[in-house]
Formats: sequence, C-alpha cells, structure tokens
Amino acid sequence: MRKCQSERLVNMVERVYYNVPFYRNKMQEAHLMPEDIRSVDDLKKLPFTIKSDLRDNYPFGLFAVPMSEIVRIHASSGTTGKPTTVGYTRHDLSIWSEVTARCLAMSGVTRHDAVQVAYGYGLFTGGLGLHYGAERLGCSVIPISGGNTPRQMQIMSDFGATVLACTPSYALHIADSMADLGYKPEDIKLRIGIFGAEPWTENMRSTIEEKWHIKAHDIYGLSEVMGPGVANDCECQNGLHVHEDHFIPEIIDPETLEVLPEGSEGELVFTTITKEGIPLIRYRTRDLSVLNYEPCSCGRTLVKMRKITGRSDDMLIIRGVNLFPSQIEHVLLEMKETSPHYMLYVDRQNNLDTLELQVEVDAAYFEDRISELQTLTRRIQHALQNAIGLSIKVKLVEPKSLTRSEGKAKRVIDLRKL
Ligand SMILES: [Zn+2]
Repeated sequence: MRKCQSERLVNMVERVYYNVPFYRNKMQEAHLMPEDIRSVDDLKKLPFTIKSDLRDNYPFGLFAVPMSEIVRIHASSGTTGKPTTVGYTRHDLSIWSEVTARCLAMSGVTRHDAVQVAYGYGLFTGGLGLHYGAERLGCSVIPISGGNTPRQMQIMSDFGATVLACTPSYALHIADSMADLGYKPEDIKLRIGIFGAEPWTENMRSTIEEKWHIKAHDIYGLSEVMGPGVANDCECQNGLHVHEDHFIPEIIDPETLEVLPEGSEGELVFTTITKEGIPLIRYRTRDLSVLNYEPCSCGRTLVKMRKITGRSDDMLIIRGVNLFPSQIEHVLLEMKETSPHYMLYVDRQNNLDTLELQVEVDAAYFEDRISELQTLTRRIQHALQNAIGLSIKVKLVEPKSLTRSEGKAKRVIDLRKL
C-alpha cells in the first residue's frame, strides 16, 4: 500500500505543480520542487488546502486538466455566493464508481440487490455518486432521488427494494411515516441501509436498525475529495475503511497543524492521489476523527477512521445542507431594522431538522405596528431562503432580550440528539 501510495503521490504532485498555478505558487512559497516529494513520508512537507481556496479559485481555477477532459461538474450546496466546484475526468468517474461499489460491497450489498437511491440527484454528489456505484456493482438501481415520502414507500414496496441509500435522518423520517401511509413491515424487503451526508450517532444507528429491521451502514465522503465513496463501515461496524489507495488520510491538530500520532483525535485531512480533474493536496475536511491501523476482523487491511462526531469549525449540517452561522449574520447585516443579536435554535421534529431564528429588532423599529413587524419577519425569511436555500422560522424579539455571552458569542443552540 505504501509503495502504491508513494508512486501515485509523486505522480500527482508533479501533475499539479505543472498544471495548477495555485499549487505551484504554494509549493514555491514552501521552497518545494516536485522532486522533493519522493514517498508518502514527504507528504507532511506539502502545504494544506482549505475550502476557501476552492471558492477563491471559483469556478475552475484548481482544475488540473483542460475543460475538454472534464466530463462532469458538481458543486457544493448551501453556501452564500460562490459554491465550491469540482470537475471529473472520465477516469475520475470510473474510480468514483469503483470506490462507491466497494462501499456497497463492504455493507453486504450484491448484484442481486435493488438499490433505492433517495439522495438528491443534481449538483449534489450524493445521488449520482451512489447511482453509478450501485450500477458498477451490478445492482438494480432505482433512481428515485430525494423527497416525496408516499412515493418512496410505494416504489420501495412495489419494486421490492432491498437497499435504501439516503441521509440517516430521512431514513428515520420514512420509517416513521410508514404506518400512516398504510404500509406494514412485511410489505417491504429492505435489508441494508447506506446512510451518509450528515453526522449521526451509534444511537441513531440502533434506532434505524430497529425501526426498519435492517443493517445500517455509514458511508463517508465529501464533494471536494470525490463525493460519497471515500470510506464506509464494514460488517464490524466499528470504524470506516478508507480507500487509501486513492485518498491518503492524515489526522492533524487543527490549531498547530501538526500531524498527530496514531490513535489521536484530530482533524481529518485527505490527499487525493489518483484524481485528475481537481486533485487536492492535504485538504482540511474540518471533520474530527481518529485513524486506526489495527487489522480488522473483516479481513480488510485498509485503515479505518472513527465515525465522524464533530467538526473543528462551526458548520452545521441541516437536512444535508451545509450552514455556517456567519451566513445568517450576513443576511441580518443587510436589514437595518434588526440588531446583530440573534440566536439560532436547531431541533429535529419527526426526524427532520428544523431551524428557528430569534432576532432582536432595533429599538427604533420595535414600536412599529404589528403588521409591519409581520412584513419584516417575512422579508427576513425570504432573504434567508434566497441566500442559504433553507426555510428558517423567524421570530422577532425585543431589543436586549437575548442572552449576551462574555467572550465568544454563542449563536447556535443545537437541540438535536446527534
Ligand atoms: Zn473491517
């Protein structure tokens, strides 16, 4: 594995140095030439890449091949202004379906399964990622996409789907709607769930497994690195095997940026060693995890990462959409009637994430008539929907009524039991 990783790393570094000005500049700043990278031991010499580097080079500035070689473009959802864009060559798509097929196989899926892909299809990598992975494995793919729960149940029952792929919260939501929609557990043949795109706990796993009578597996990935398919948990369900022949993981201290010894918790960093469209060097995911190189009882020798439990920044994942509190702040700053004091309450009702924003109205406006305050509420809701793509319940509150914190302001109260 180390030999394979080293050869691929050396090749990738050379490609980006000569094809991506951004990386050439960063390597020159670090006084590095491609020949200074001779094996995976030299990985730590290389500079990090962060999400804003992708945004600063929007849309295609980090692509390492001409656009004529790019056959697919995806983009991240839920960020204000510029999304982060990724491009895939034909070879990238082939590797993506290969690693996603491995994830499905790791979860016990075979060509005899019918896979209902209830992730969204579109710029988001979830739907198409799982779709081509399941096709590659030889499954019968049901590309239903997300939403429309009654239809999900009808198709699952009529087509005899044996595998469901979606976010874990949507899986719970469908399960809870089953009885109301007139279906009994014996009407469905589901046996495996492939759930990802948001963090979830072991408790949530047991709840889903009990409600559906299935084995629930965790699939990990992020669009910058590839999409779903970077890692997945095997039948042991005690860590996710990382496809390290394509994505080399490291764990760093998010403050000092030092690589941490094996077994330490820290921020997960990936270097993509085979990607052609947009290779990434030491991409900081902001996800917190631990790497485990012990042999796994399933027989696989791929390194395992612990299930993601948190982040090293303040990003929230709401219904699969990435949300930073700063995006809300940005919208409120443009409203002269509100003060910059707000509190965001995140909760989960019927397994769907809900958001309520409490915002203080500026004293000068608070005396206004109720109808004007209602108009203001609607305006804020509309502006948030436009900027973030999420519907957020807005509640105006009196000036100086929200708790002030000393030091770093607490803007988010997450009541979800993740
Ligand atoms: Zn294993």
